[in-house]
Amino acid sequence: MASSGKIVISVDGPAASGKGTLAKALAAKLGFAYLDTGALYRAVALATIESGGDPANFDDVKKVIDNVTHHVTPETLVNPKLRTPEVAAGAAKVAAYPDVRHAVRDYQVEFAKNPPNGAPGAVLDGRDIGTVVCPDADVKLYVTASPEERARRRFEELKAKEPSTTYETVLNDVNARDHADTHRTISPLKPADDAHILDTTTLDRAQALDAAVRLFHAKFPPEADRPAKTKSPRL
Ligand code: C5P
Repeated sequence: MASSGKIVISVDGPAASGKGTLAKALAAKLGFAYLDTGALYRAVALATIESGGDPANFDDVKKVIDNVTHHVTPETLVNPKLRTPEVAAGAAKVAAYPDVRHAVRDYQVEFAKNPPNGAPGAVLDGRDIGTVVCPDADVKLYVTASPEERARRRFEELKAKEPSTTYETVLNDVNARDHADTHRTISPLKPADDAHILDTTTLDRAQALDAAVRLFHAKFPPEADRPAKTKSPRL
C-alpha cells in the first residue's frame, strides 16, 4: 500500500492487449481512480507534432515536455487526436527518451499517491508501472494476448473509422510496437517478477474483469468473506 494509505493496482502489458479496457473497468468496479499512462506519452507525441516537430527528433520533443506534463487535465487524456496511428507511432518514439519518462513518471507517482477526488486507490495501466513507476503496487497484473488476437481486436475497432486499414497493416503495427517496447534500453516492457500474468487470448471482457477482481480479492478479501469480528460478551 502506498505510504499515503491508498491501494495501488498496476496493469501492464503490450499494445492492444485489452489492458486499458480492463484497467478502466476494474477501477470503476472498485471505486478507484484510473490513469491511462500511455495517453501521457501520446500527449507528448501529439504536442510535438502539433508544434511542427518530429517525435523522432529529441530537440523537438524537449520543447514540449514540461508544458504537457505540468498541465494534464482529464480532457488531455481523452483527446480523440491521441488515438491516430501517427500519434501511436510517435508515442513509442518519445517513450524512449529518459527526459520524457522522468517527467511522465513524476506525474504517475503523484497520481498513485494522491488519487483525484479522494479515491481510496488507483489503477494505472501502462508498460512499466509494476516494474519501475510503482514497484510496491499492491496488486500487479500483466495482461497479454497473442499478437494475432491483439491485431484482430484492434482491426475490429479501426475498420469502421478507417476503411482502408487492413488486418496485415494492424498486425505489422502491433509487432513493430512490441519490438520497440520490449527492446528499448530504458524501462523495457516486461512483467514484474511478482505480477500475475493474465492471458486474455481466449477471454472476453467480462471474463478478464472477473479474473482481475478475483486476484484483487485474493489480497483484499471483500467484507462478506472476512472473518467476523467476535464481539466481547456484555457483562
Ligand atoms: O498504451 P498505449 O498504446 O496508449 O501507449 C502508447 C505508447 O506509450 C506505447 O507504445 C509505449 O511505447 C508507451 N508507453 C510506455 N510506458 C507506459 C505507457 C505507454 O512506454 N507506461
